[in-house]
Amino acid sequence: MKITHDFHVHTNLSLCAKPTATLEGYLETAKKLGLTKLGISNHFWDAAIPGANDFYVPQDYDHVASLRPAIEKADVPGLRVYFGCECEYDPWRHGVACTEEVAERFEYMLVPNSHTHMMMPKEYYHPYEKHAEFMLAAFEEIVDCPLSKYVTAMAHPFEAVACPYDNEILIDLIPDDRYRRLFAKAAGKGIAFEINISSMVKKTPEEVEKASVIRLFRLAKEEGCKFLFGSDIHNVPENLAPFKNAELVADLLGLTEEDLAPIAR
Ligand SMILES: [Zn+2]
Ligand SMILES: [Zn+2]
Repeated sequence: MKITHDFHVHTNLSLCAKPTATLEGYLETAKKLGLTKLGISNHFWDAAIPGANDFYVPQDYDHVASLRPAIEKADVPGLRVYFGCECEYDPWRHGVACTEEVAERFEYMLVPNSHTHMMMPKEYYHPYEKHAEFMLAAFEEIVDCPLSKYVTAMAHPFEAVACPYDNEILIDLIPDDRYRRLFAKAAGKGIAFEINISSMVKKTPEEVEKASVIRLFRLAKEEGCKFLFGSDIHNVPENLAPFKNAELVADLLGLTEEDLAPIAR
């Protein structure tokens, strides 16, 4: 299946993105790719929720919403651009770092259970089990929290970001039944599963097939989860390579239009 959406794009409002990551640049890329839906998902922590670290303090609603007028004015034939966010998981209040009032203002919300480089105490990196348990708990708390109805998709589930060792170790460590229980819960809440293609950019088709996340995607599909795709790009790409494996993964999983989250159809 050809994938014609990308709901995980960071502009230069995200402090970790490149200054050249402009909305205009992404609109050009979307045109070249023939996308019909483009979601802007800058990093976000609601200022009304205590506990933001130095990275998140400046990235509040006013900050991410400064791009909203331009998003609404974006005029590319056949393309709809969405105002979303990648809102952080809040480990202290066991949920999402956002108030309901602010969550209402976004067209969609991604929440990661795997920003462990920021949200997990460093001593949890070892043993691996502790790191894996942190992500399992985060996943469940996001699904169970009062804000869960605003969570469109779990961002890069279980793909620990900036992990000091191969993060596939962690994915492989968790048995099917533990994933299944959580994925069934997420499916019940209508929380989609992001297929984040950033980890697959440099992989050959054979390597994609062997990637540990493929097991997760298969389990999620069997438990009834819907999917959406995200490139997680932090700069306007020079070529379209970041997107080439999306279709491959969709075919590998046998995805059809019905398997996509409603917003991505
Ligand atoms: Zn992320
Ligand atoms: Zn991201």
